[in-house]
Amino acid sequence: MLEGKTALVTGAAKGIGKAVAVAFAKEGCNIVLNYHSSLPDNVIKEIEGFDVKCMPVKGDVADFNFAAGLIKDVKNEFKTLDILVNNAGITRDMLLMRMSEEQFDSVIDTNLKGAFNMIRHASSLMLKQRSGSIINMASVVGITGNVGQANYAASKAGIIGLTKSVAKELAARGITCNAIAPGFVETDMTDVLAEDTKKAMLDVIPLKRYGQVKDIADAAVFLAKSSYITGQVLNVDGGMVM
Ligand code: NAP
Repeated sequence: MLEGKTALVTGAAKGIGKAVAVAFAKEGCNIVLNYHSSLPDNVIKEIEGFDVKCMPVKGDVADFNFAAGLIKDVKNEFKTLDILVNNAGITRDMLLMRMSEEQFDSVIDTNLKGAFNMIRHASSLMLKQRSGSIINMASVVGITGNVGQANYAASKAGIIGLTKSVAKELAARGITCNAIAPGFVETDMTDVLAEDTKKAMLDVIPLKRYGQVKDIADAAVFLAKSSYITGQVLNVDGGMVM
């Protein structure tokens, strides 16, 4: 169903982004793989192992002009862009009273403005095609809020508002836009948390296990295949938030 399509995944050198890129490659999609600082050698090999093309592009999604150039490159190389996954994200956790302006701005710039930048440029290509699937990585804390994450939760709540607005604006041209709200997924992002924090998380997950990157990748593939779902937030969190 997704064979021969082009999927662009941001922040895809590791973690959830890498798993999403690999999952789309497994479905037969050509992959545009955005990475930020470095890209381990084996990632491209793993994707090309599915007999698809992989175009790695280094850059910062928070940079409006980088996003414009990236979409231009995709158009030149593949002609179409069928799936955009806005996955790139960072945390700069701090209690509100001690949070610096830089900690707030950097998280909003990468997580929220980065997604806007990509959608802003990708949508012109998708509008011409009259098709496309946009998937944004939110978080359950964008719904619930979280101590020490005012910046991150605000960025993810913003992602949800962005997702619904984009879904409404682009629906008439056959473009869907949805968000995935992961709970606690085992990646480098959560690896830095204290053991007692991780343990406390497990206590509030009804399915009694941490999320794995494959759980999120499966949801992304599902949404890309679902032409009649738009403007939705899909919680993939083991039942953490109901
Ligand atoms: P991760 O392992 O830290 O990976 C994040 C990726 O984003 C890295 O490859 C990083 O590249 C890239 N990135 C950071 N800033 C970027 C920028 N400005 N431009 C382009 N790429 C950038 O984190 P993850 O756990 O896989 O998270 C992926 C997404 O899921 C994020 O949006 C995160 O907020 C969301 N999420 C994760 C969890 C969880 O429990 N893990 C829960 C809810 C939501 P560099 O390392 O090179 O900077």
